[in-house]
Amino acid sequence: RTGFVAIVGRPNVGKSTLLNRLIGQKISIVSRKAQTTRHRVTGIRSDEDAQFVFVDTPGFQTRHRNALNRTMNRSVTQALADVDVVFFVIEAGRFTEDDRKVLELLPEDAKVVLVINKIDRLKDKARLLPFIDEVRSLREFTEIVPLSAERGANVDALVRATVALL
Ligand code: GDP
Ligand code: MG
Repeated sequence: RTGFVAIVGRPNVGKSTLLNRLIGQKISIVSRKAQTTRHRVTGIRSDEDAQFVFVDTPGFQTRHRNALNRTMNRSVTQALADVDVVFFVIEAGRFTEDDRKVLELLPEDAKVVLVINKIDRLKDKARLLPFIDEVRSLREFTEIVPLSAERGANVDALVRATVALL
């Protein structure tokens, strides 16, 4: 089985870090600076039971309506059109207006996995459940996986959940 997965989210949530972690290579540029990934970056992962094609997207640009941002958004929309699963990546404990705008752009019928990244930064773990409830009230998610892309924590759970969706 081959699964096509788009990784979406506002800039800086850790999409490129996650892609690198998923494929075990530094294929996508990771930066503190937003908008480092201007083009779609694709990575392939082959496991015994499944193969994945991951597409790291430039963050949806929700602030300025200029030509470059429009082109980038179109690129993300195209990436979404023909994938099996969408990873919607956000930061643990922090759901912003930009996150909400990206969420609104996801097709209604898409299988969306809510990836709550940077859990290593969440000092008070008791905040995680109410945070999940808050985000879950905005849309139905096929799966919800908290993880740390940087440290690799729980990334295997994301892979297992995705295989189950193919
Ligand atoms: P992108 O814009 O969504 O592709 O985000 P990047 O992958 O470029 O990451 C943005 C910043 O967040 C970088 O400084 C990363 O090192 C950092 N980052 C990514 N994942 C994690 C994580 O799991 N934990 C922490 N603490 N930082 C992370
Ligand atoms: Mg990136």
